[in-house]
Amino acid sequence: MSSPRREHYDIVIVGAGAFGLASAYHLMQEDPTRSVLVIEARSRPGEGSMGASAAMVRDVFSSRDNHLLAKSSIAFYRAIMQEHEELRGPVPLLDLYGYLWLLPEGRMREYLGILRESAGSIDAAALTLDEVRSCPGLEATPSRWYEGDGSAPPEPIAGGLFGRNCGAVAPEMLAGFYHSAASGAGVEFVFDAVAQRLSFEGREEILLHEPSGRPFAFQEHMSGRLRISQVSFGDGRSVRADTVVVAGGAWSSRLLDPLGVASACSPRPQQLFAVSGTVVDELLAWQPPVRPIDAPSGRSRFPFVILPSGATLKPIFPQRHIWIGGVDTVAHPIGTREDPGRDGRLDFDSAALGDREAFGTDFLPSVSPYLPRFDTSGVRLENTWGGYYTFSPDGLPVLTEEPYGVIFVGGDSGSGVMKADSLGRLVAATCAGRSEARLYSGESYRCDRLSLQHRAVAPERIIL
Ligand SMILES: Cc1cc2nc3c(=O)[nH]c(=O)nc-3n(C[C@H](O)[C@H](O)[C@H](O)COP(=O)(O)OP(=O)(O)OC[C@H]3O[C@@H](n4cnc5c(N)ncnc54)[C@H](O)[C@@H]3O)c2cc1C
Repeated sequence: MSSPRREHYDIVIVGAGAFGLASAYHLMQEDPTRSVLVIEARSRPGEGSMGASAAMVRDVFSSRDNHLLAKSSIAFYRAIMQEHEELRGPVPLLDLYGYLWLLPEGRMREYLGILRESAGSIDAAALTLDEVRSCPGLEATPSRWYEGDGSAPPEPIAGGLFGRNCGAVAPEMLAGFYHSAASGAGVEFVFDAVAQRLSFEGREEILLHEPSGRPFAFQEHMSGRLRISQVSFGDGRSVRADTVVVAGGAWSSRLLDPLGVASACSPRPQQLFAVSGTVVDELLAWQPPVRPIDAPSGRSRFPFVILPSGATLKPIFPQRHIWIGGVDTVAHPIGTREDPGRDGRLDFDSAALGDREAFGTDFLPSVSPYLPRFDTSGVRLENTWGGYYTFSPDGLPVLTEEPYGVIFVGGDSGSGVMKADSLGRLVAATCAGRSEARLYSGESYRCDRLSLQHRAVAPERIIL
């Protein structure tokens, strides 16, 4: 680890992931005179769950808040791509090829209702059953879940919904942009450095329990006196800070719990599987009957497909792969294997979170009813890896501020890369003591809508 250059910073951010990087960037955009330090356990930015993610972006959400936060972030990613040539190729920062939800009848009605409520803000179109049937090998009315299973077959597909302001970002390019722009503006980054503990130590105006270093309960009510002052590293060193922004993704609660700060979030492991084969080649060649988006060829391309079972298919055109994913909330316990608060290190190994066996046992059964040629013999498993979704209770991000100088931003619920820019703006506004932030889209957004105390959001129904 390189050493922090100062002993004291105005703001220390823990975590150079999607939220921490966007926060560092926007803090400096707002006030370049601030001293800001970002502490990151990995050796490069964006290598936590951000680097393990599918990095898809969409603005199709049932919650208006999620929609606004994502739509504005996507617009920002598009703008920086237009501004910076190196973000346009050979791989573009943002590649919009659409999301295609294949939906049973009831959900088709529900999604069309969401579209109507958005009053044109969501750019999406319905596809008929005949139109989605042009997808090679698609079985719209499956006859069974999987071999030998006696339960009723999964729901038949009644049609599709094609979201147009949707596609993929290159997470390493997004992380690289925020990192280099923030460093250029004066943010200091220390990599290979783990924040093990946040504490009230070193403040002379308050008494602390010995030897725990914790404050006495009554001090919580001494407005302005009780403040976090110290961030201790796993190697015994420490820095002092006026404000600490905990943007540690799945590992945030390891720092917050000992302080008594609730995040209300639950990290759960999630996996992706890269597959190839002739079935994959045929799918990737499909040109769905939709108006093409941003395609240099002028042709529509295989979109990100969501099956009624929740399985997702992401096209990787250059390698001729498809990444298969799906939300897992039952096969693994809540929590992270790694505990930086206890161990003083964070040995996150994305490859080790991938379980090749689970492809056949847990994931293929939700794909093969609709794509029967996707059985273990029809596709080749090329690679598997994992990371964490940090679920909030309602599928929206969480941004809390404690009166003693700790801000938590997290609760991505599997869609943080696509909202990171907006969250960065909200963190910067919160640090500046403002109650509202201006999103890139121009909308004003009240920061405490995402707080735990004054939360004012409708739960998200579309979690992928
Ligand atoms: C399989 C999978 C697929 C996904 N697909 C998508 C998708 O398609 N679209 C999307 O938007 N999102 C997706 N996500 C979710 C996305 O990865 C998260 O929303 C995003 O990474 C959250 O950002 P974050 O900054 O909160 O966490 P992270 O990106 O994990 O960043 C947290 C950082 O903090 C560091 N850190 C933690 N604790 C400490 C500490 N004590 N000291 C020092 N450093 C610390 C970590 O090393 C890490 O770099 C996916 C996630 C997974 C796992």
